[in-house]
Amino acid sequence: MPRNKVPFLFLFAALHLLILNDLFAQGPKFIKTIVVDAGHGGADVGATGQYENSLQSKEKDVTLAISMKLVDELKKQLPGVTVVPTRTTDIYQSPTEKAKIANQFKGDLFLCVHADSGPLKRDRRQIDTRTVTRYKISYTGKGKKRKKIKTAYEVEEPVYEYFKRPLTRSGTSVWIFAAHKTSDKLKAIMDGDENFEIEAGGIDSVESTFDFNSPEGKIIAAIYAKRFQERSDRLATMVNEEVENTGRPALGVNQRQVGIWVLQATNMPAILIETGFINNPEDERYINSEAGQQELAVAITKAVQRYKAQVEGTNNYDKIQTASITRKEDGAGTLPAFEKRSTKTPQVIAVKSKTIKVDFYDDGDIDNDIISVYFNNALVVDKKSLTANPHSIVLNIEAGKPNELLLFADNVGAIPPNTALMIITDGNSRHEVRLSADMKNNDSVKFELKK
Ligand SMILES: [Zn+2]
Repeated sequence: MPRNKVPFLFLFAALHLLILNDLFAQGPKFIKTIVVDAGHGGADVGATGQYENSLQSKEKDVTLAISMKLVDELKKQLPGVTVVPTRTTDIYQSPTEKAKIANQFKGDLFLCVHADSGPLKRDRRQIDTRTVTRYKISYTGKGKKRKKIKTAYEVEEPVYEYFKRPLTRSGTSVWIFAAHKTSDKLKAIMDGDENFEIEAGGIDSVESTFDFNSPEGKIIAAIYAKRFQERSDRLATMVNEEVENTGRPALGVNQRQVGIWVLQATNMPAILIETGFINNPEDERYINSEAGQQELAVAITKAVQRYKAQVEGTNNYDKIQTASITRKEDGAGTLPAFEKRSTKTPQVIAVKSKTIKVDFYDDGDIDNDIISVYFNNALVVDKKSLTANPHSIVLNIEAGKPNELLLFADNVGAIPPNTALMIITDGNSRHEVRLSADMKNNDSVKFELKK
């Protein structure tokens, strides 16, 4: 049957998406190649600005412009890294082709640039009035003489104009392919509940032709889940933080189990950045402006630099995190300062993300409280003065580790004790924790990964 030919062809193509010989290798230790995908292209226009007075810009053009700037910025900041754009012109590529390019170049990271959209509401406004003739019906006479009388009269009625209202939503969001538990992810794929959409309006739908029910499909999905989710999540969190640092609304890291096909078909950590809403007037102007495009390119590059440093273990923060300095190993007679004080029983906070962001603020009056923070006995914040602006850190919650955060007071400020407000960003959830320490007592928090 000719109909069967198509799936077989795609299956063949899909098998080549993954480099099968290193399927079971560890994730890359060094970031040597970064693939930047300008979403859509050619006949696949993506979303377009459609509200009244929009620039009528096309997502495929915006993604290309931002991607080119991102490629330049990555090359500038990371001279040793090969940066591969999936496209540099307005050409059509199927998601399969995009993924294939990334895999053929053996990318260590896959960054997809998109613009968001959503359903537009239609509205109307009165622009004129017009005179229309209506008829009043009445009757005269009785019985057989009864007659119908039509009396014309004129009436003014409004003339409306219909238009599409712009979206009120705005901001940048980051998407990763979710695979918390392999079985869940496989179930989502195999239930056939595939709703291949990224965006609310369905404009950005990416269709999958690959059969995840096949034995090969199951293997690929399982491997992706194990190998790349944590790293994709980490990078996505950093991109979100860097976007937040620009002052733009950062809508957080979102996970989907279905629909972001191109992300799971790539044999590397992968994220998709919805740079802004093309149907929101401010966002549309921002993502079409040189300044906006450059700001996004710089923010994403900063996140990639941090991610790279962390993966390669070249930044101090990551070294501290991964060095797992235990109290016993610290045998040189240089006990951390916190050891000399007593520590309160930790508050336990259940978190669902392996990577969480913690913002420290002074709680209450800003009285020059200086804190140090230890995580799993390693110093992660060194003598920071707390203010109304957050001091942010990223923590990796690892199973099998105590995941204990300890607040050490370097002073008690003008108003004792030393009080810190911690805002913990855990995926889409936020937790608020208040800690207080003084010159005799440390405070602590323990994170537990929710199952
Ligand atoms: Zn898109």
